[in-house]
Amino acid sequence: ATMPPLLSAIANAGRHGVLVKSAVVMERLGQVDTVALDKTGTLTEGTPRVVDVRPLPAGGLDEGELLTLAAAAEHPSEHPLARAVVDAARERRLDLPVAQDFTSAPGIGVKAVVEGRTVEVGAPARLLDDPDGAVVEPAEELEASGRTAVLVVVDGTPAGLLAVADRLRPDAAATVAALTTLTGTAPVLLTGDNPRAAAHLAAEAGIEDVRAGLLPQDKMDAVKELEGAGRKVMVVGDGVNDAPALAAAHIGVAMGRAGSDLALETADAVIVRDELAAVPTTVALSRRARKLVV
Ligand code: ADP
Ligand code: MG
Repeated sequence: ATMPPLLSAIANAGRHGVLVKSAVVMERLGQVDTVALDKTGTLTEGTPRVVDVRPLPAGGLDEGELLTLAAAAEHPSEHPLARAVVDAARERRLDLPVAQDFTSAPGIGVKAVVEGRTVEVGAPARLLDDPDGAVVEPAEELEASGRTAVLVVVDGTPAGLLAVADRLRPDAAATVAALTTLTGTAPVLLTGDNPRAAAHLAAEAGIEDVRAGLLPQDKMDAVKELEGAGRKVMVVGDGVNDAPALAAAHIGVAMGRAGSDLALETADAVIVRDELAAVPTTVALSRRARKLVV
């Protein structure tokens, strides 16, 4: 027997490193007219690195102490920024104490008790209600150059900033261009990161529609708004902080390598072989298969 078109399209997508979970999904992929991309781990390589460790005077810690506390608190987190912080501590051969009472707030950061001290690590504007100039000025300076400023708060005092840098995926700009041609609409960037770092990266990738500073709920609302306006939206994300947006979309695609376990299970499709360029390829495969299905 010859294989039904949607099934051979699934097999073909598999050869391009995309796991499409059903024939229904394979068919829906071809209906997508708007693509929303997450930033960290999707548009970027998702292996950010700590490029600067800056203690703030109020904390009274040196670089090693600051990084030790931050890395201990981040250790249980799945977020790419958390891995960057832990790797930086390992490279400096710092001993990491075991954190207690770990909690993480998606799109905001983490909190844990490390050797009796309460340590919070995350977005400066999210951790502090009213950050003063001593935090805001160095943070904005880092962000203007495309870096993500990660704030470390110890026992309620801003103790330091970590500058994290991530690279655009090599195929990001080509993928954005291909998706624009294929769907007739330029992709949208949805990110929890700050507007300065987001704008910097979006410009490099050729994306104009940038929605930054979004919490997971806001990302979902942005998707619902687009769908409410009649769009068929595909969200591509790592699922760490965009699980609700992935679920709300017409099609949710998870990046396999950076993706959380939950995202891989609940997504409609998974990019197994870490190549963003497989997204437009898969949409095109669906379009072709749909023409053959009567
Ligand atoms: P993106 O949309 O770029 O993938 P996220 O929504 O995952 O970003 O996170 C948004 C912001 O929240 C990050 O830029 C960071 O400032 C902060 N954040 C979230 N989780 C963490 C964490 N574990 N450690 C440090 N910062 C975090
Ligand atoms: Mg993310």
